[in-house]
Amino acid sequence: MSESTEDELAAGYRRFRTEHWPAARAEYEALAHGQSPHTLVVACSDSRADPALIFDAAPGQLFVVRNVANLVPPYQPDHRLHGVSAALEFGVKVLNVSRIVVMGHAHCGGVNAMLHGAPENCQDFVAPWVAQATPAVRRVAEAVEPDQVERAAEEAVVRLSIENLRTFPWIAEREAAGDLVLTGLHFGIADGILRALAGPGRFQAL
Ligand SMILES: [Zn+2]
Repeated sequence: MSESTEDELAAGYRRFRTEHWPAARAEYEALAHGQSPHTLVVACSDSRADPALIFDAAPGQLFVVRNVANLVPPYQPDHRLHGVSAALEFGVKVLNVSRIVVMGHAHCGGVNAMLHGAPENCQDFVAPWVAQATPAVRRVAEAVEPDQVERAAEEAVVRLSIENLRTFPWIAEREAAGDLVLTGLHFGIADGILRALAGPGRFQAL
C-alpha cells in the first residue's frame, strides 16, 4: 500500500469516526448482538458499483457477496472451496434473507474478459472464473448489434447467475414457497440508473 493510499484510507477512517460514528454508535452497538439483513446481494467487485451506496443501505441491512462479474456458480456440494455458495448457504439458511439480488453493472471488466479474453497476466484465476459464463455471453453477443454487445453480455451474466441460484435446492424450495424473491439488476454507472430483469431477456428501468 503506497503512503498516499494509506493516508487516504486513514483520512476516510477519521471522517467515519468524527462525522458518522457519533450518530451511528447506538445502531452499531445494537448490531453487535447479531445481524438480521433482509437481502443478500451478489455484486461485482468493481469499485464503481457499491450495493450499500446504491441502495442507501444502513449497516446490518445487506449481506453482500462481491466477486469478478457478479457470478453465481451452479450448486456443487463437493467439499471444495466455494466462497459464493458458502455465503449463499449462510445467508439463506441461517440469516433467512427474504430476497437475493444479483446486480450487474455497465462497463464490467469481468464481462469484457468473457467477450475478449482475460488479461494476459490474469490466467491463474480470472480466466477460469469468467470462463464459466463465456458460452452464455458469447451466445447472446452473436445475436445483437455490435453496439449492444456489452450491455447484452452484462445482462446475460445476471440471468445466468439467477438461473444458477435456482440450482441450489434450498433456494429453489424457498422461492417456490414464496419465502424468497430472486431479483436481477443492472447498474448503469454513468447515468446512475438501475434496471431490473422483468421477464425473459428483458430489463427495465426502476
Ligand atoms: Zn464488473
